[in-house]
Amino acid sequence: MYHAPSDLNDALNIARGFDGKIIAGGTDVFPSAQQGKPPSAILDVTGIKDLKQISHGADGTRIGAAVTWSQIAGFDLPASFDALKQAALEVGSLQIQNAGTIAGNLCNASPAADGVPPLLALNAVVEVASQARGVRQIPVSEFLLGVRKTALEADELVTAVVIPPVPANMGAAFEKLGSRKYLVISITMTAAMISCDAQGRITEARIAVGACSPVAIRLPGSEASLMGQMPSELRVDPSHLGALSPIDDVRGSKGYRLDVVARQCERAIIRAANNG
Ligand SMILES: Cc1cc2nc3c(=O)[nH]c(=O)nc-3n(C[C@H](O)[C@H](O)[C@H](O)COP(=O)(O)OP(=O)(O)OC[C@H]3O[C@@H](n4cnc5c(N)ncnc54)[C@H](O)[C@@H]3O)c2cc1C
Repeated sequence: MYHAPSDLNDALNIARGFDGKIIAGGTDVFPSAQQGKPPSAILDVTGIKDLKQISHGADGTRIGAAVTWSQIAGFDLPASFDALKQAALEVGSLQIQNAGTIAGNLCNASPAADGVPPLLALNAVVEVASQARGVRQIPVSEFLLGVRKTALEADELVTAVVIPPVPANMGAAFEKLGSRKYLVISITMTAAMISCDAQGRITEARIAVGACSPVAIRLPGSEASLMGQMPSELRVDPSHLGALSPIDDVRGSKGYRLDVVARQCERAIIRAANNG
């Protein structure tokens, strides 16, 4: 059975007791479905107009759950969103960016989801809704519970990602390392958001790293150590990255990943400081 409601209340009604799969772009759902065994029922949320909208104003930014990576990359947003926009352009290929959505990336809960570090740096909150309990808001850091695990209940849909106002002088940058340029799973990725004073010294830093732990994380220790430093002079010591727990696999060893992240942080911090 294929449900394609155009109204959120209808979708929440279907989601109640739903024994099937919610889809948006389907770019995670269909490749991971066993061949010849598609989901028994599908709830496609891409017909719900409100979920396809982005709004940006003084009270924050709201990105509808079914907004695609191409929409984000093309939307007029301030420099503090550059890490998210740069990540959008790194998700797969143009075809994937045209179909894949921000909520799909979050709900799939891959450690290598490129959208997550920029959203952590933006202090983003996931808005979810159900017919039984209404709307609740969950910080991205609490929404992602582990590999392929989220805080979403069975009868809930993600309706939006909400970003609180960001200081006007904050710049942002995203760095991704893969084994080739396009269509590649991240070996490591880093998002940085940086504010500097008139002398160019760092006054606020937000650093988030993905693909180096079951869930991408912020690095509060590193963020604190950056205060007062000049971006072009700082060196990130791998020993400051103790919260990370990268694995050894075919794409890179633990030590290699930590070395790369340290360099990615330095590059992302300089780029973010320059575009604030
Ligand atoms: C060739 C290829 C390359 C890729 N490259 C990258 C890459 O470089 N970086 C990267 O991060 N990802 C990559 N991906 C993964 C994927 O494209 C992204 O994660 C994308 O953002 C998923 O969005 P979607 O709308 O297609 O999700 P879907 O496949 O539709 O759904 C994914 C999950 O989210 C759930 N879901 C979707 N919307 C909602 C909602 N509103 N409420 C509740 N649950 C919901 C679904 O039930 C499912 O569990 C790639 C995929 C492919 C096929």
